Amino acid sequence: MINSFSSIFKLVIMLIAMSSFVSSVSANDTEKVLTVNALKSAIDLTPYINILEDSSKKLTYQDFSKPEVLQQFKPLDKAANFGFSESVWWVKLKIVNNDKQSQKVTIRQNYPLIDYVDFHSQQINGIWTSYSTGDRRDFSTRPINFKDFLFPVDLAAKTETIVFMRFESSGPINIGLDLQSETSLFDAVSSNHLITGIYFGGLLILIFYNLLLFVAIKDRTFIYYLLYLASYGLFFAVMNGLAFQYFWPKNPWLANQSLIILLSLSLIWSLQFSRSILSIREISPISNHITSGLITISVISLLISPFTPYKLIIIPISIITILCTIQLMAMGFVALSKGSKPALYYLIAWSTLLIGIFTYMLKSFGVLPHNTLTQNGQQLGSLIEMVLLSIAMSSKVSEFKKGSYMDSLTNLPNRRFFDERVLKEFEHSHNKKEGLLSLLIIDVDNFKQYNDTYGHKQGDEALKFVGRKLQSTARKNTIPCRYGGEEFAVILPKTSAEQAAVVAERIRHSIEKENFQRRNLTVSVGIATLEESNFSSHHLLFEAADQALYCAKANGRNRSEYFQATITNRRIPSS
Ligand code: GH3
Ligand code: MG
Ligand code: MG
Repeated sequence: MINSFSSIFKLVIMLIAMSSFVSSVSANDTEKVLTVNALKSAIDLTPYINILEDSSKKLTYQDFSKPEVLQQFKPLDKAANFGFSESVWWVKLKIVNNDKQSQKVTIRQNYPLIDYVDFHSQQINGIWTSYSTGDRRDFSTRPINFKDFLFPVDLAAKTETIVFMRFESSGPINIGLDLQSETSLFDAVSSNHLITGIYFGGLLILIFYNLLLFVAIKDRTFIYYLLYLASYGLFFAVMNGLAFQYFWPKNPWLANQSLIILLSLSLIWSLQFSRSILSIREISPISNHITSGLITISVISLLISPFTPYKLIIIPISIITILCTIQLMAMGFVALSKGSKPALYYLIAWSTLLIGIFTYMLKSFGVLPHNTLTQNGQQLGSLIEMVLLSIAMSSKVSEFKKGSYMDSLTNLPNRRFFDERVLKEFEHSHNKKEGLLSLLIIDVDNFKQYNDTYGHKQGDEALKFVGRKLQSTARKNTIPCRYGGEEFAVILPKTSAEQAAVVAERIRHSIEKENFQRRNLTVSVGIATLEESNFSSHHLLFEAADQALYCAKANGRNRSEYFQATITNRRIPSS
């Protein structure tokens, strides 16, 4: 226990260290300049960023007309991620257009959760064009209506253009800039819409599918799962800027606070869903307590989130998220070690999501290259995760289905199974010329008395014993079922009356011989056989076996009898 706490602690420290991983400013002072010819594809601007940290937050872009201030810009070698920062960060870009013609380009900032983003670019006539936007300002402040920040720039022919950008945020400062030509921007936006459509389309289908499953099966796991899907899907929409664009463009407060609210909801429902699908309550009380604790903490963070400034709550909730993630995986391993079938899919599912998130983080920290895969890694991971969790759910459904056909006391197929199966077997044999099908009905002798003498609980034990005996004497193709009460039935496909009698005697004899608990437990068996289409329906076959059972009881119990109407001169072979 102590060991696992200390390793959790180490992990938290490591992850916090990672999130505050600050890009260092290069010692090499040469200014970064980007030279472009006729621009076709997009250019990653990371290697061309000159950076200035303004901890006073007082500088304006006009101050950069003073050379002593402008000199403070330093080239940056790594990805521009400054973690949680109190400072304002300024970016300077110098872009030289070598082409004979002027070019209309767009600068994109691909991380949309920055509070304040100001953009200034100088025209050829010396006049500055400025935009002030960010997710603390109305969505309408954006020059181009898109979830990421897009700033249009005219690059005059054979001229250099200077751009200053100001970043200020209470969340992490991730600066991810690229330069897009008109056509590459079109491509980027189209493929973005395609990926978004696939993701949210898939999500909606899963939500409705699970709603239907809940209505049909009434298992709460489905509700937890669809609540998790809905909260994580919305959380994701907030993360990538879509929710602000489409749901609450006039509400910057919600654009920020919704992230915390939805993250808390995702944590609550993912924990609740996990413990439900993995039956944690039953298999590990300790793990269940830890989960309850984390759910309580997440509920508290949900309740206080609307009233607590984003700045104060974002770091605690990041730590809670890490702890919940560890617990989600731990539950999977506990369930797997106890042989739970959904646990394997469950673990692969969460691992895919985590790989997606780590890929995105490593891209943000400049460890992995910036490409379609790393940019959308989290989304892809999340989609695969949701599909795999659905598979885990379907393995739960199949367990449920099995459950509705099983008798929980004896672990034999139940009456419902018997009814469906005997009909199937009857139709199968009845349609054939030489179709044979035998049926045994087995009833415990004087069971009322047994119950009265030894008690109901001992009666249950006796029924379990008979169930085990039926299973152990069952050969391939025989299907023993608990018909109800102290009555059992055995379906014997392709079995003649003589062969059925052998099976019946074997069962009867083995129960008598074992003398369960020395209480003289015995059974009587009625046998009926479908041959040469002597019965026109499975009901008649069943009635015949039941009548034979009645004879066995009347003739003294602890014996097998054939149905007499069809088979007159057959004798039960003695065993
Ligand atoms: P017979 O030899 O003629 O079959 O006599 P019987 O006493 O076995 O038959 P009867 O139908 O009178 O009694 C059946 C008893 O089985 C009555 C009921 O309490 C008992 N029983 C039915 N289902 C269960 C069960 O699930 N558990 C227990 N312990 N008893 C059961
Ligand atoms: Mg009975
Ligand atoms: Mg009985």
